[in-house]
Amino acid sequence: MSTAVLNLLPTVPVPAIKPPVEATSLTYRDLERGPFWQKIPAYREVDEKQFLDHSWQAKHTITNIAKLLKALEGLVSPAFIADAEEGFKRAPMSVRVSPYLLSLIDWNDPYGDPLRIQFVPVASRLLPDHPKLDLDSLHEQQDAPVPGLTHRYPDKALFLPLDTCPVYCRFCTRSYAIGLDTEGVEKVHLRANDERWRKAYEYIASRPELEDIVISGGDAYQLRAQQIEDIGMTLLAMPNVRRLRFATKGPAVMPMKILTDDAWTDALTKVVEKGRALHKEVVLHTHFNHPREITGITQDAMNKLMERGITVRNQSVLQRRVNDTPEIMTQLVKRLGHVNVHPYYVYVHDLVKGVEDLRTTLDTALYIEKHVRGATAGFNTPIFVVDAPGGGGKRDAHSYEYYDRESGISVYSAPAVKAGQLFLYYDPLDQLSDTMRRRWADPAEHEVMIRLALAKAREHVR
Ligand SMILES: *Cc1c(COP(=O)(O)O)cnc(C)c1O
Ligand code: SF4
Repeated sequence: MSTAVLNLLPTVPVPAIKPPVEATSLTYRDLERGPFWQKIPAYREVDEKQFLDHSWQAKHTITNIAKLLKALEGLVSPAFIADAEEGFKRAPMSVRVSPYLLSLIDWNDPYGDPLRIQFVPVASRLLPDHPKLDLDSLHEQQDAPVPGLTHRYPDKALFLPLDTCPVYCRFCTRSYAIGLDTEGVEKVHLRANDERWRKAYEYIASRPELEDIVISGGDAYQLRAQQIEDIGMTLLAMPNVRRLRFATKGPAVMPMKILTDDAWTDALTKVVEKGRALHKEVVLHTHFNHPREITGITQDAMNKLMERGITVRNQSVLQRRVNDTPEIMTQLVKRLGHVNVHPYYVYVHDLVKGVEDLRTTLDTALYIEKHVRGATAGFNTPIFVVDAPGGGGKRDAHSYEYYDRESGISVYSAPAVKAGQLFLYYDPLDQLSDTMRRRWADPAEHEVMIRLALAKAREHVR
């Protein structure tokens, strides 16, 4: 009998009993505890009380290259140090690394370490930018009615009250604004400024359709307690505003602030409680990318927020050699769930200057998504999105109108955001075939490939 016929026969029911799983294999539950930071020569004498002190972390955060390289002396080879020095010279982001983060990096393997890759550039691994890349690829500034307020979607807006963060990430989409100017990039500055904030509030109040405000930056960790309260209470008082999210990288790079900066955590709690009394949602959005960023300290911090009834959601960025395998992404998702953080999004890496080595193909994102979905609760399963270059907003990665894996061009539409327009995303060139790389080396060929992709997409779009 052929297999085709066999498949049509009723199958004999097999008892669906799952074999037990060895408890020791559930490694997402094994969180790093103990004085792991004492491996770093500079922190050998630092005890737990000091390490958990948020002001000690802030004060010892490394903000220039010379200090970083000094902290690494003896931990890594001089060749690596020279490579990093050159890497920073060419990077669009300035340096900012917390002691906590520095301690989580495995300096025995600086080239392979997934945390090092995200924060410390090395020149030898850099790749040329994609020819279609510009600095503000999401066109946040073009969709901004007031500086630092992006109104792209019908009912929600992104408010950037300031332009600093507790750390600076290589992959930052806002490298056009965040941090200090670098050798290559002079930035648009969005300082904490009453007049600018007032204009943003006026705009939000004048738009009845705006219900949902993301307070990002920069980073809400950098706001003083009083500013958290002022922004939160001002927005909650507007009848049209129904939902607030404070966005911060903080829990991933300095979780102890939640444990020891009582003023800050209390201010957030106050806004959440005020929201609850008004039947409005106030939550925290954060940004973990790798399971090793979640430690026992993180768990203690997330427990504190849970006890206060504060919902935390996570947005990750998919990055090559950081989290671009089904195993690592599944481990991240399970570990986030374990510390009561909801995985919300995984972003396919934006087209950002100077970090081509971090981007993956769209195909990689689709493959990982397929493996992650089903591993845990649906509400703890992130949606993989492409933030469409040119301001189309976030699109489910699977929802492309057309994707040519050969040229690496994908095409999206966003009917609810910018009806009638098509948006293009490009896979990194080094992942394409030699033939395709040669085509991309010829600017005359770009238009040919793009026109073809758009024509194919138009056949499909509705
Ligand atoms: C991401 C984003 C939002 C929030 O979008 P959600 O899909 O609701 O998380 C709002 N405005 C802008 C400009 C954004 O980039
Ligand atoms: S914390 Fe966020 S905004 Fe700040 S540098 Fe990192 S990715 Fe950019």
